[in-house]
Amino acid sequence: MTNNADNRILALYGGTFDPIHQAHINTVKAMASEAGLEQVILLPNNVPPHRPQPKADAKQRLMMAQLAVSGDPLFLVDDRELRRDALSYTVETLRQYRAEIGSRRPLAFIIGQDSLLTIDTWHEWDKILTLCHILVCKRPGYSLDFPSEQLADWFVQHLVTTPESLHKRPCGYIFLADTPLFPISATNIRERLKNGEDCSDQLAPAVQDYILAQGLYR
Ligand code: ATP
Repeated sequence: MTNNADNRILALYGGTFDPIHQAHINTVKAMASEAGLEQVILLPNNVPPHRPQPKADAKQRLMMAQLAVSGDPLFLVDDRELRRDALSYTVETLRQYRAEIGSRRPLAFIIGQDSLLTIDTWHEWDKILTLCHILVCKRPGYSLDFPSEQLADWFVQHLVTTPESLHKRPCGYIFLADTPLFPISATNIRERLKNGEDCSDQLAPAVQDYILAQGLYR
């Protein structure tokens, strides 16, 4: 998949994807075009038994991610976090990827703006930029009002405004892209499906068909 002479950004996008929806796909596509990403790897998260469980199981969440991006050469789906029994910390997954691609190739982790505001709750969050860049997609309802001065300072210190910078270093930058706003959340989709409402404008057709066939979120 990769080698040390390859300087293209390898971008990862993690999520519970319960279910994967059109805001996930379309914000990442917009990010890819703005930041010049050729490859984005979707990483469905493992949710360990002691945490509130997703409604869809790991196999179903993986299948929905595969169906959502099937035939689109921008995307690959990696099930490595689902194959682990234990909680998969993002920092550990990033360390694995860094070991696989070597120290020089740019690695990026894509998140929504809501995740940026709580990133200091992630395990070893202050190590993340030593491994990758963080690419942030806008999300309606979330501002840049950081909950602490420490996090606001960290953001400003690492922020770059030109995507070209991301290609020049392997890690260390935060890029806030001007992605379109999609007022969609998996929680809201689950509620609407439970009420028998139509969500065809928020889900890929193949994902919607799979949800119906599996009787999910009823
Ligand atoms: P839930 O509603 O259950 O919290 P979610 O829709 O936020 O789910 P996740 O799988 O938890 O979906 O999110 C994966 C990533 O997608 C996160 O980084 C999140 O910030 C981002 N994301 C989700 N929805 C949007 C959206 N509407 N716009 C931009 N980013 C989003």
